[in-house]
Amino acid sequence: MNSINENNLKLGIIGYPLSHTLSPQIHEYWFKLHRISGTYEILEVDDVGLDRIFCDNIHQYRGLNVTIPYKVRVFDYVDEVSDSARVVGAINCITVEDKKLIGSNTDADGFMNGLLAFNGDLDFTNMNVLVIGAGGAARAVIHSFLMKSTGQITVINRSSDRLASLEKVFNNQIHCMDWKKLNDSISQFNLIINCTSQGMKGENDFSLDFTSIQKGLSVIDLVYNPLETKLLIDAKRHGCKILNGIPMLLSQAALSWKLWLDIKPDITDDIIRFVEDKI
Ligand code: NAP
Repeated sequence: MNSINENNLKLGIIGYPLSHTLSPQIHEYWFKLHRISGTYEILEVDDVGLDRIFCDNIHQYRGLNVTIPYKVRVFDYVDEVSDSARVVGAINCITVEDKKLIGSNTDADGFMNGLLAFNGDLDFTNMNVLVIGAGGAARAVIHSFLMKSTGQITVINRSSDRLASLEKVFNNQIHCMDWKKLNDSISQFNLIINCTSQGMKGENDFSLDFTSIQKGLSVIDLVYNPLETKLLIDAKRHGCKILNGIPMLLSQAALSWKLWLDIKPDITDDIIRFVEDKI
């Protein structure tokens, strides 16, 4: 790896659209904190632009984050794929080495690190988790719980075909449930995670019926804009512990730095406040 004291350190994010991304602010905050002279570019590209980055420009960068809609497409461009990217089926971080491009997924560990910072005493073996959603984020969350030998993982998704393909990936390690049973089954779980895009600014709110929950239920929403979704507001009103998507957002970014620069920035209250102020 090159020295990070050089003045041409270039990082960036590939996706479309990227008008609301917070990644540049996060990485620039850490550039300043770690006294690194670097840039974090927004590469908002269509398919042709994506191809051009990998064919013409990729070796200018030390590393790139990848977001919607290219987390699967970039498998075609990398030389090596990390285990978690293979299991999750998505690449959100590319490390550019001299001779090769390595595709990784930092969402799974980012989610788990955020969760453990929220509560370091979790008893995973006795946990009964409900994962709502079957997209890339849900896969990362499921993988992270499987790595912790979590007691039971139940997954539910609006469209049954997407749920069926997720069931194939995780084989008999998860339990899949019909979308219609969502509210009737809530009392079984002690941790519920919304991994859908419902509740995001501009999307419909997501509601659950919290009347029959068990004591000590925690509810996590991967959405971070707004900081408190209707789901989290309702959960808090019913006495649940709640967590939004900011710790995961920051932890997956910090893990990208570890891969690119061998530096792991701390997720401090200051950076959490800094990011929350941008929303
Ligand atoms: P994705 O692959 O596009 O999956 C979207 C999921 O949301 C699917 O399960 C989809 O269900 C479900 N969904 C969308 N609209 C719905 C609706 N109206 N009702 C019910 N289900 C609906 O997206 P993703 O990458 O997994 O991301 C999902 C969410 O996680 C996004 O809000 C994203 O911002 C967030 N996220 C946060 C972080 C973080 O760092 N905090 C990281 C990654 C993702 P169908 O299959 O039925 O369409």
